[in-house]
Amino acid sequence: MNIHEYQAKALLRSYGAPVSDGRAVLRAEDAKNAAGELDGPLWVVKAQIHAGGRGKGKFKEAEAGEKGGVRLTKSVAEAAEEAKKMLGKTLVTHQTGPAGKQVNRIYIEDGSDIERELYLALLVDRQSSRISFVCSTEGGMDIEEVAASTPEKILSFAVDPATGYQPFHGRRIAFALGLKGPQVKECVKLMGILYKAFVEKDMEMLEINPLIVMTNGSLKVLDAKLSFDGNAMYRQPEVSELRDTTEEDPKELEASKYDLNYIALDGEIGCMVNGAGLAMATMDIIKLYGAEPANFLDVGGGATKEKVTEAFKIITSDPNVKGILVNIFGGIMRCDVIAEGVVAAVKEVGLKVPLVVRLEGTNVDKGKEIINTSGLDVIAADDLKDGAQKIVKAVKG
Ligand code: GDP
Ligand code: MG
Repeated sequence: MNIHEYQAKALLRSYGAPVSDGRAVLRAEDAKNAAGELDGPLWVVKAQIHAGGRGKGKFKEAEAGEKGGVRLTKSVAEAAEEAKKMLGKTLVTHQTGPAGKQVNRIYIEDGSDIERELYLALLVDRQSSRISFVCSTEGGMDIEEVAASTPEKILSFAVDPATGYQPFHGRRIAFALGLKGPQVKECVKLMGILYKAFVEKDMEMLEINPLIVMTNGSLKVLDAKLSFDGNAMYRQPEVSELRDTTEEDPKELEASKYDLNYIALDGEIGCMVNGAGLAMATMDIIKLYGAEPANFLDVGGGATKEKVTEAFKIITSDPNVKGILVNIFGGIMRCDVIAEGVVAAVKEVGLKVPLVVRLEGTNVDKGKEIINTSGLDVIAADDLKDGAQKIVKAVKG
């Protein structure tokens, strides 16, 4: 789960991290008062979307020469004006994809005087199963680019969970970032704060790009991107409240209401499968035969007819879907329940694309009979390979 920059900064501030004063607004008419509460003489107006690269991004509706999603302004009136210009418009960055994201919230922040921009991240390193620090002197840039062109400028190391964060970790980062004198102490303290917040709030990633050295020599968190482990949200009610569902895929949101494990992907073949392992195998075999899956969908072991119907509706609502493969291995899940769900869904929403159904396991004969007598235009498949080949052929010709 992701949250907005202004929410991330408020959370980090509550742990004692150095963050500028700022105000979030949802309506253009509130921007002037919000900016007026900040000191100036620089006001930074920032589009709030769940994606990075806003500064270098571009609005779809931009006029010639118009700036991206981060704008430096020199008066309250100018800040309010820029906030008004951005609200409701669609910002495209290298992280949003070509469709971009609509800007519904603006953060106005007291501007900082920057001497240097640094990069700092905390993440869960899967290889070592530990929390790792990543830092670089090349802040404000795309870290993937830094990693590709000048990997020697990135320092990364894992923290042993038995000891947790120790001051020497912070000193190692401070020296790698070229910090001097009192900045070293500041850095050691800040890294401890970030590590504590990361662990206590069940974060998956914490990225500060840039962490800045101000002209007065102090450190400040200038941008903050936090993502949290969705499976831990049951014990993080305060974090859960920060969820902004308008930033999420409406299909995934719908699926979560019905407790379906659904992830939208970019391909053309919609998949309805039971069991995560089989769903993975189905996606792999679709790729093997030259097509791309439009989604990952595991309807689970004990799915009801209603759940299957909803799953089918979610798949067909995706305009990218050019064909559907239902691949069920009935164990706890019974083939006849799946068949009933598919038939009910098709009757309700219609079927505009080819549908291949492969059923095997518990009550397979009953399931096949329901499909065969339904009058639906279904292509039957004998096994996974046959099913994948048939749906790819139906879609690609
Ligand atoms: P991102 O583009 O989505 O990563 O948004 P950031 O919050 O990182 O802002 C992009 C860039 O805008 C930063 O790298 C800075 O160079 C600049 N910027 C942001 N806030 C300030 C500020 O308070 N003062 C100055 N001088 N520049 C800022
Ligand atoms: Mg940034």
